[in-house]
Amino acid sequence: MDFGWTEEQRLWRRAVRDFAQKEITPRVREMDTTERIPPEIVKGMAEMGLLAPLVGEEYGGGGIDWTLATIAAEELGRADISLAVPVLYLVEAAWGFIFDQYGTPELKEEYLPKVTRGEAFLGIATTEPAGGSDILGACRTRAMRDGDQWVFNGEKTFISGVRESLEWGGLHLMLARTEPDPAAGHRAFTFFAVPLKGTSGISSTFFEDMGRMGISTGGFALEDVRLPAHHQVGEFNRGFYHAMEGFSAARTLIGATCVGAAQAVLELGMDHIRQREAFGRPIASFEGIQFPLADLYTELEGVRLTTYKAAWTMDQKYQHQATTHYDIALVAAMVKLRAPVLGFEIMNQVADWFGAMAYTKECPVEMGMRGIRSYSIGAEGTTNVMRIIIARELLGKEFLPTAYTQQS
Ligand SMILES: Cc1cc2nc3c(=O)[nH]c(=O)nc-3n(C[C@H](O)[C@H](O)[C@H](O)COP(=O)(O)OP(=O)(O)OC[C@H]3O[C@@H](n4cnc5c(N)ncnc54)[C@H](O)[C@@H]3O)c2cc1C
Repeated sequence: MDFGWTEEQRLWRRAVRDFAQKEITPRVREMDTTERIPPEIVKGMAEMGLLAPLVGEEYGGGGIDWTLATIAAEELGRADISLAVPVLYLVEAAWGFIFDQYGTPELKEEYLPKVTRGEAFLGIATTEPAGGSDILGACRTRAMRDGDQWVFNGEKTFISGVRESLEWGGLHLMLARTEPDPAAGHRAFTFFAVPLKGTSGISSTFFEDMGRMGISTGGFALEDVRLPAHHQVGEFNRGFYHAMEGFSAARTLIGATCVGAAQAVLELGMDHIRQREAFGRPIASFEGIQFPLADLYTELEGVRLTTYKAAWTMDQKYQHQATTHYDIALVAAMVKLRAPVLGFEIMNQVADWFGAMAYTKECPVEMGMRGIRSYSIGAEGTTNVMRIIIARELLGKEFLPTAYTQQS
């Protein structure tokens, strides 16, 4: 047991923090207004090795481990509490890793170097209009084999990075049904890499989001879309498992990002309560202010430790081939259950400390509250879905309600 950081980890945190605080933090309000991540930030992230950082160095990736990736996620959350830049980072980190593991060599050679240079986007598309929690029941998008091509029909919605993918180019890893028989359960889906830009038969939609405005959320419909066979990612009818693997990875990084953003807001709040006076004293000297600070900081530290346990567990699996999928699913779900909710609680508390100022856009806390809410509402799995996973891992699959006994 060792709670210390290695020299490499310390230097990496310092480098990411220096970059992020200097290049990203001053532009967070601008991103919230323009609804774009400035190209200079994307370029800077590429130069720092922060785009798809877990992919192999042959594709321009940093080849870093999960602990380093999690440190970077925490620092990016700390720098951009709106979470737009962290979303770009973590979606590409987690799903880039899955694509690197399971994508075909020709497609990886075509796309991954562009992703790591910031010239293409890489995202995930599982959610459909019929719902995101029950992928098994709701995934109606069909993929049919026709010679050396796949033909797709269906629709994906609430997908991060649709605009970025259309403007920059890139891929979304998309889950599609490849086995019509409902008895096939979760062995009925395959993963595919779908380029939205320039692909005939794709039409897109966009949502006007509540937060994390710098990165888009949209959807796309597929009408007789044809892609070559090498766009299949991973094994036939094993897409559900590949998706679950990616979700555990993403949830770990989401935990770190929410911890970083909550820490930043808490520090902002502490600066404020030390200076703001009422009844002739700094408000930090009132117990009504101090006690919630003590409680929230204690909880934040607990979630931070669990997050780094998730990163460590990922490293045990992928660097040392030591643990099973289920160890990761459990700890990643615990992190994803608690980090966004606690982060929001912290921001909500700090908003109280700022008084009326918190209700204006002169105070950044409102951007944080709008951004972090995306992760408790549902992005990469809702809080109730995290509870279902945790209970399943604790009690065993035999106690799952019959509606999802077939889910992994
Ligand atoms: C900002 C944002 C970005 C997103 N980006 C992506 C993306 O890039 N790619 C992608 O594929 N998806 C993305 N999503 C979609 C996300 O994965 C889904 O929102 C999520 O899976 C939930 O699906 P849903 O919204 O259809 O809610 P539903 O599945 O309809 O759930 C509605 C409510 O019912 C609850 N519920 C459902 N089943 C149960 C149950 N058995 N027990 C108890 N409660 C239950 C849920 O917890 C939730 O509170 C994004 C979402 C958001 C908000």
